[in-house]
Amino acid sequence: MPLDYVQQLRELFDGPGTLSELAFYLHAPAQTDSSFAPPGHESLYILVPVPHLGRPLSNWSNDAREAFRQRVLTTLEYVHGFTNLQESLQAWAEWTPIEFDRIYRSMYGAAFAFEPTLFQSAYFRPHNRSGLPGLYFVGAGTHPGAGIPGVLLSAAVTSSLILSEMPAEAPSKAVIVPKIVERGQL
Ligand SMILES: Cc1cc2nc3c(=O)[nH]c(=O)nc-3n(C[C@H](O)[C@H](O)[C@H](O)COP(=O)(O)OP(=O)(O)OC[C@H]3O[C@@H](n4cnc5c(N)ncnc54)[C@H](O)[C@@H]3O)c2cc1C
Repeated sequence: MPLDYVQQLRELFDGPGTLSELAFYLHAPAQTDSSFAPPGHESLYILVPVPHLGRPLSNWSNDAREAFRQRVLTTLEYVHGFTNLQESLQAWAEWTPIEFDRIYRSMYGAAFAFEPTLFQSAYFRPHNRSGLPGLYFVGAGTHPGAGIPGVLLSAAVTSSLILSEMPAEAPSKAVIVPKIVERGQL
């Protein structure tokens, strides 16, 4: 985290779309699963929180994207001690809010659905049962919230609702659903 993480959060959520410092979430999956990199190599997942596309200065033009990538790698090398990171890079893939917007049609390219403010969290998120009979919602943008645990709970809630509201004579196509409920509750 940046030293001033409160400032970081202000910039992310309320700022114009630029960041004075970067925060990182890093994962090196090949450390525990060798199938994630060829022998003698490493793979690195780098997540950097950035403002969404609704901010006035949010810019992911080719030049801005290139500059941001450079900033991420340079910060990891010179601030966090990843020596020779840039020299060692053989292949990479990157996603910005533009990809979340274009590929997933996510509002403002936001990766985590609704901002988790109090009145958009838990009970206040869109409910799993719609107002229309037979129409249900599930996943990160619904109750109870984003993240794999939240999404599994959402699946458990929605599948329970469907099972409890299905007409008794309907063929039990959803027989697999109770298994998902059990796994979501672990
Ligand atoms: C970069 C990043 C890092 C994350 N890290 C973590 C983490 O460390 N821990 C954690 O718990 N959570 C993490 N999350 C959050 C977590 O991944 C999500 O909350 C979760 O995957 C959302 O699940 P979902 O089923 O709602 O949606 P998704 O997993 O997005 O699944 C929706 C699926 O629907 C498909 N789809 C979309 N439109 C259509 C259509 N019209 N027709 C057919 N299919 C369609 C999509 O291709 C996709 O496969 C992370 C998310 C991101 C973006």
